[in-house]
Amino acid sequence: MASALKISRLLSRSSFSSISRGGNGYLGATLSKYSTASAVEEPIKPGVEVEHTQLLIDGNFVDAASGKTFPTLDPRTGEVIAHVAEGNSEDVNRAVAAARKAFDEGPWPKMTAYERQRIMLRAADLIEKHNDDIAALETWDNGKTYEQSAQIEIPMLVRLFRYYAGWADKIHGLTIPADGPHHVQTLHEPIGVAGQIIPWNFPLLMFAWKVGPALACGNTIVLKTAEQTPLSALYVAKLLHEAGLPSGVLNVVSGFGPTAGAALASHMDVDKLAFTGSTDTGKAVLELAARSNLKPVTLELGGKSPFIVCEDADIDQAVELAHFALFFNQGQCCCAGSRTFVHERIYDEFVHKAKARAAKRAVGDPFKGGIEQGPQIDSDQFEKILKYIRSGVQNGATLETGGDRLGDKGFYIQPTVFSNVQDDMVIAKEEIFGPVQTILKFKDLREVIQRANNTRYGLAAGIFTKDIDTANTLTRALKVGTVWVNCFDTFDAAIPFGGYKMSGQGREKGEYSLKNYLQVKAVVTPLKNPAWL
Ligand code: ADP
Repeated sequence: MASALKISRLLSRSSFSSISRGGNGYLGATLSKYSTASAVEEPIKPGVEVEHTQLLIDGNFVDAASGKTFPTLDPRTGEVIAHVAEGNSEDVNRAVAAARKAFDEGPWPKMTAYERQRIMLRAADLIEKHNDDIAALETWDNGKTYEQSAQIEIPMLVRLFRYYAGWADKIHGLTIPADGPHHVQTLHEPIGVAGQIIPWNFPLLMFAWKVGPALACGNTIVLKTAEQTPLSALYVAKLLHEAGLPSGVLNVVSGFGPTAGAALASHMDVDKLAFTGSTDTGKAVLELAARSNLKPVTLELGGKSPFIVCEDADIDQAVELAHFALFFNQGQCCCAGSRTFVHERIYDEFVHKAKARAAKRAVGDPFKGGIEQGPQIDSDQFEKILKYIRSGVQNGATLETGGDRLGDKGFYIQPTVFSNVQDDMVIAKEEIFGPVQTILKFKDLREVIQRANNTRYGLAAGIFTKDIDTANTLTRALKVGTVWVNCFDTFDAAIPFGGYKMSGQGREKGEYSLKNYLQVKAVVTPLKNPAWL
């Protein structure tokens, strides 16, 4: 559980001022040492240059066919970092043609699995070597803290590549005892050209979740990055080529959803589509895939995950973990614990402490040491979050702390806590995707199970209890793809992730992700002399 350990180590430095850890849980957490969020100062220089802004097609960096570019912005200021080539359908056609050729005629699917594994391992080593530059680029383009990029996300990216490199030479079919005199086997073959569309909240982790298994299985790829965060994937894709990835195997197209993204989803020569993003866009790409060539689609979509604090919980620990479950990554997590259900017996004390914890959250320049929360990704998300906060107030929830922007530059939002939240309020139903905690009260287990499941989403849930029977009951009753018991956001390359209901289709990470990128071929051969065998 290297990555889970890394998260816990980082937390022990930044937000859990005294913590002892046991198993997967965070035990003995106390309130943060940091003082109230201060005004935002002059932005710190990232200490890295932007090297790549063109599209990566067939192993070369090239301009968009149209010659167009778009600006990518620093969320700390809203100022332009760089102008990036804007891919459209013509560029997607070029990228898919390169990937098709690399799959049909190139060495990648045909080379031994051991050779593929070695290239992926070399790539992981190179990424590790460039950890700090990649982390700086990611923080600059995204606004997440540098500590998070450098100590959690880039190491997790390396871990994912090593994990899937390990799988490359362990993918094989079965010999099947069919009823009849036949030798029957299955071959597990790469599916072909994979189209992959990723979001902006974890640009490099989403890159790894998709590119890692696709490469291990011998596929070729056209990846479309999110328009808000195009920089880090170009840097890492270049390192993969330095590690020996043949030209055309991984093509990266920067650009917008309705143009480049839709062209990829509907392309007749793309054999498989993997998408992470909003539920509405997920529906759109599924329709495009169905209307074009019926390519299979993996979807990882939105969530409104419950975090359930039972009456036996240690309140200080529960407050800290619930805080982390919601505020991590500026609240921009599809699996954020965005409905904090607290038992009525401990509700008032919990709210009091949750408010104090949020008020002490260290918000500021993500390049500064000790900062827990940077800016939101862009003005659209910033405005949307502020609108949700206004709706919470209008609908009668109690605004305990926060509720406004922080400073007058960039996209910083005050850590916000609402209590007395009712299930039918918009803030309890829709994905806010920001630093806004909503705390709801419950009476008993049967009731909280019904309410926790009463959503169109089903991505994840957190449970906080000392009682094994309560944990077992909730674990089985919740209709979600991941249940974290006395922990949250404990991720690892080997642990599958995905959603029930409208949170998605299929699973990524772990062994489960391999089947997204494989075809199964049954081979049947008559046995010549069955009587002798
Ligand atoms: P968000 O609203 O959080 O930006 P989206 O689901 O819109 O999330 O975006 C996730 C990814 O999907 C991005 O790479 C985006 O460019 C892409 N995208 C958006 N709209 C479409 C579309 N109509 N077809 C294909 N991809 C799209």
